[in-house]
Amino acid sequence: PAALARAESLIALTPDFPTPGVLFRDVGPMLTDADALADVMQALAAPFEGAFDLVAGVEARGFLFAGALAASARTGLLPIRKAGKTPRPTASVDYALEYGTATIEAAGDLTGRRVLLVDDVLATGGTLVAAAALIEQLGGEVAGVAVVLELVALSGRRRVPSAHAVFTA
Ligand code: IMP
Repeated sequence: PAALARAESLIALTPDFPTPGVLFRDVGPMLTDADALADVMQALAAPFEGAFDLVAGVEARGFLFAGALAASARTGLLPIRKAGKTPRPTASVDYALEYGTATIEAAGDLTGRRVLLVDDVLATGGTLVAAAALIEQLGGEVAGVAVVLELVALSGRRRVPSAHAVFTA
C-alpha cells in the first residue's frame, strides 16, 4: 500500500554508524511523522488482533513502538531493560552479542498473560530470542513477535521463524 511505502521511505540509511562498515537503518524520521507512525503501528499489530493482552518492548527503541502499540490496543506494557536498571528483577537472561555478552531483565508475574514482543529491527535475532526467553521466565506466553524492519541478510528469521516484519531490507 502507498501509505506503507511512504513510511518505509522515511527509514534513513546511515553509512558507517555506529562503526565503520555498518549501514545503519534509522527509524527516527519515521517516528516523527504522524501518518507514518500510525500506519506502521497498524501494520505491526494487524496479524495479532485480539491475540495479546500485553506488549513487551526491548530497551531502547523497542520501548517506543511497544508503548505506541500498547496505547492504541489498550493493553499493558512491559519494558524489558538492560542489566542494572530494574529495582527487583524477577527474570534475567544473558545473550551473545557480536563482541561479548549482554543481559536483559524485567520484573513481574506474567502468568496467564499473552505477550506481543516488539522491537524496531530484527538483525541476527539474538535480542528477540533472549526477550522471548525472559517473557517465559516471567510465566508469560509469547503470543507473537513483531518488528518494524527485518534485515534479511543477517538471517535472524532462522532463530525467530514466526516473526512478523512490516518492512524487509
Ligand atoms: P539482533 O539481536 O542482532 O537481532 O539485533 C537487534 C538489535 O540491534 C535491535 O534491538 C536493534 O535495535 C539493533 N539494531 C541492529 N541493527 C540495526 C540497524 O540497522 N538499525 C537499528 N537498529 C539496529
